[in-house]
Amino acid sequence: MEYRHRASTDMGTHPIRKSSNGLMLPPNMASYDTARALFSWQEARQELTGLPGGKGLNIAYEAIDRHAAGPRRDQVALRWIPRDSGIRDFTYAEMKDLTSRFANVLSDLGVGEGDRVFALAGRIPELYVAALGTLKIRSVFCPLFSAFGPEPIWSRMSIGGAKVLVTTESLYARKVAALRERLPELEHVILVGQSEVKTATPNTLDYHSLMVQAAESFDIQPTDPEDPALLHFTSGTTGTPKGAIHVHEAVVAHHITAKLALDLHPEDVFWCTADPGWVTGTSYGIIAPFTNGVTNLVDEGDFDVERWYAILEAQRVSVWYTAPTAIRMMMKAGSEVARRRSYPALRFLASVGEPLNPEAVVWGQEAFGLPFHDNWWQTETGGIMIANYASMDIRPGSMGKPLPGVEATIVQRTEAGGIVEVTEPGVQGELALTPGWPSMFRGYWNEAERYRKCFAGGFYLTGDLARRDEDGYFWFVGRADDVIKSSGHLIGPFEVESVLMEHPAVAEAAVIGKPDPVALEIVKAFVSLKDGHEANEALRRELLGFARSRLGAVVAPKEIDFLPTLPKTRSGKIMRRLLKARELGLPEGDISTLEASA
Ligand code: AMP
Repeated sequence: MEYRHRASTDMGTHPIRKSSNGLMLPPNMASYDTARALFSWQEARQELTGLPGGKGLNIAYEAIDRHAAGPRRDQVALRWIPRDSGIRDFTYAEMKDLTSRFANVLSDLGVGEGDRVFALAGRIPELYVAALGTLKIRSVFCPLFSAFGPEPIWSRMSIGGAKVLVTTESLYARKVAALRERLPELEHVILVGQSEVKTATPNTLDYHSLMVQAAESFDIQPTDPEDPALLHFTSGTTGTPKGAIHVHEAVVAHHITAKLALDLHPEDVFWCTADPGWVTGTSYGIIAPFTNGVTNLVDEGDFDVERWYAILEAQRVSVWYTAPTAIRMMMKAGSEVARRRSYPALRFLASVGEPLNPEAVVWGQEAFGLPFHDNWWQTETGGIMIANYASMDIRPGSMGKPLPGVEATIVQRTEAGGIVEVTEPGVQGELALTPGWPSMFRGYWNEAERYRKCFAGGFYLTGDLARRDEDGYFWFVGRADDVIKSSGHLIGPFEVESVLMEHPAVAEAAVIGKPDPVALEIVKAFVSLKDGHEANEALRRELLGFARSRLGAVVAPKEIDFLPTLPKTRSGKIMRRLLKARELGLPEGDISTLEASA
């Protein structure tokens, strides 16, 4: 299903030429071809130090402790911009103490290696401390998006077997307290309060009191690079959310991909606008900026055009990593708004998460004098896999070329069920990667079969459709499955359908992504009703509210249509694709398996 924006599949769009003239810093990768020819993951690993005494590799040590022990000790590691006022800075040395304290907090509670520590919070400093402290004690950190409603929170915590949850007083009261009974494995809930006064919420612990009592130094125990470190939930077309497991070794990829694809230099002020509830906000919002020794900017506030321009200017952001939905909203406000301010420090713009239309790449030049560099990756890959680089010409609309060390190709499935690689340029197929990079996921939590299905013919199959042009640039075409991308968030239709089906009036539900000029897609549901229920406006509103209260605003459908029955295959599978084609007025394609009544 193609949902690329206008002109983006036109591989002839004028390229944006790059030259080293005028660049503020020499790019980390001077020549793509040379870097690709010389690259080895072993050498990339040498950029990190490993635990002292050869005791393995630990993400938190590479991100924080090694800088705290070196010349960057007093440099600002995390600059936090609260929603209102009162910017706070944390140096690498301070981050070391705080994360050590948090590791001690967990350890004093009897939490240890392999236990799952979940976090549900907005962009607050305590979240960053909790993530890295968790990694120090070799527990598994699992972030949840704070805009999720109770159902997505519950399903992820129960699948992942959460032992600890770190959250805020208000999120706990609104979304978690009522779920406690359904989470028997959850032993500790640590609440970050609005004040430093001990909270009175029953069955919970107070973050600040625990931190004050905990010791400030912590010795990271030997960490096998293959020890699980991160659990990131993602969605497929069917079934419950899947927890992709990443190990400590992933830090090699986080570090080097940020250095090569985002061109991070230690003197940078880096702003990744992704929420740490999603993989980008962890790999590039927590880990990679610190391993690269930059000042990592974190804004608690929600998206707001004026606020964002003010931050870019006032904080002297030099590298900015954002997402197409935000860029499109900024474009809507007009480039004059951007040009009212100046951004003398800004030198590199990058985007991820959804197709970046060529107009947006070019708009970057109009508004900031710099193009956006699109890059591609996904939860399972743990780090950037395909990118546009500071030193490489951009073909607007293209995702760029594979990172050095990453082998990407296009494959097609044969009728006999095999896989063939497509070598001819311009031919569409599924984007596939050769496994072996360090941040490759090691499995789906307790779901060996779903993991196995991701591989065929020696490739990891990404579920995305793409093309490669004659010069090796990759062009995104669409998803190979029915997963929805809305404002950068991957949404599994099954999760939404399951909640709608819980409503007493609903007999069947099917959910599709309906194209939207800003959010890329919005979630749209089709429902058929049980006998005795009437399809009317009041019920539509009730269903919208019902879904929203359980799923949260990002996941819940924005539109609901009633249908007498939903189109199904003869074997009873709802044909979402047909609903989508009908919604968009597109050809219905092969409907030979359609049940007669639909
Ligand atoms: P997630 O696992 O939530 O990070 O979502 C990954 C999916 O987002 C990919 O499989 C793509 O479908 C989509 N995606 C990520 N980056 C891009 C990009 N640069 N262009 C087009 N689609 C993208």
